[in-house]
Amino acid sequence: RIILAFESSADETSVAIIKNGNEILSLEIATQIKSHQRFGGIVPEVASRHHIEQITLLVEAALSDAQLTYDDLTAVAVTYGPGLVGALLIGITAAKTIAWAHNLPLVPVVHMAGHISAAQFVEPIQYPALALMVSGGHTEFVLMNSENDYVVVGDTRDDAVGESYDKVGRTMGLSYPAGKTIDQMAHQGESTYQLPRALMNDGKLDFSFSGLKSAVINLKHNADQRSETLDLTNLATSFQSAVLEILLTKTRLALEKYPVKMFIVAGGVAANQGLRDGLDQLSAEFEQIKLVKVPLELAGDNAAMIGAAGDIAYRHGKRAGWDLNAKPGLDFDYLSPEIEFKVP
Ligand code: ATP
Ligand code: FE
Ligand code: MG
Repeated sequence: RIILAFESSADETSVAIIKNGNEILSLEIATQIKSHQRFGGIVPEVASRHHIEQITLLVEAALSDAQLTYDDLTAVAVTYGPGLVGALLIGITAAKTIAWAHNLPLVPVVHMAGHISAAQFVEPIQYPALALMVSGGHTEFVLMNSENDYVVVGDTRDDAVGESYDKVGRTMGLSYPAGKTIDQMAHQGESTYQLPRALMNDGKLDFSFSGLKSAVINLKHNADQRSETLDLTNLATSFQSAVLEILLTKTRLALEKYPVKMFIVAGGVAANQGLRDGLDQLSAEFEQIKLVKVPLELAGDNAAMIGAAGDIAYRHGKRAGWDLNAKPGLDFDYLSPEIEFKVP
């Protein structure tokens, strides 16, 4: 099986060709970060325009890097949500066009299933599996009792962890996205600022990050009022310590509740070195559970992960019709009803 995969939900345009769900024959990623940086976040219309400019070029590059033609393809997979509607539509339209022109099945992929499936590039996922899905838009535990079966068993009640990194970074005057910079700074300072950790003793798998984010914003605001300067390195360390304590405490609880075979950490924030180290230590307490951290270079948005998830969905008979539409607010819960329709 050779799958041509598309990802265009946010600010990365990406096309990949994936063999049997776990081998990258080619991967093209065009990032637009520079165009959005001066706005401090993604501007949807700007994102759409970049996707349009890049997408056909990336398809040609992906085919030529893999030394393949359209005739070699088994299926086309595409992210259909969640994300920015205008951005998603570019990937969906490109995928539909190629699938229609070359008579290939069209496979719809939920973006978070893609993030989690990046684990397949490390080793085959063993079920039951549990994933900590941490990114710019999501902070959730996803239980997979079997392949292609995703159930959200814990979620954030407000901000996603990546979003709080980016907002805290903006307060600190760092450029967007700030996760990686804060992570690097965090390793150089000391945790000197007292910051709140929410929902720590509720015994539940839900998260809340808005109080932590607001505490940092207030700290900065109050310091500015008094013309005091904050030690930004120590602030980064304090913030990341709070984040890690929350994520690791909830992960311990999740693994006690769901003694799965494999635990996967996925999403853009899975690139966080503090989190990767913390999970390594934690996993020593759970000998029967295999920890898989998605590869660093595949933690952020890319089409390779969509090809991996697309391969799973393809084998399970998931198909979209030509009426496939972008679903900006898509969640795993929508998975079954949304994709029952078949290619005419
Ligand atoms: P979603 O996947 O929920 O739709 P998204 O696709 O925008 O959201 P990703 O691209 O998966 O999110 O991840 C981007 C996020 O990851 C940003 O918020 C970024 O700051 C964060 N991030 C990247 N590297 C690190 C790091 N080393 N430490 C913490 N956060 C990081
Ligand atoms: Fe993402
Ligand atoms: Mg992104």
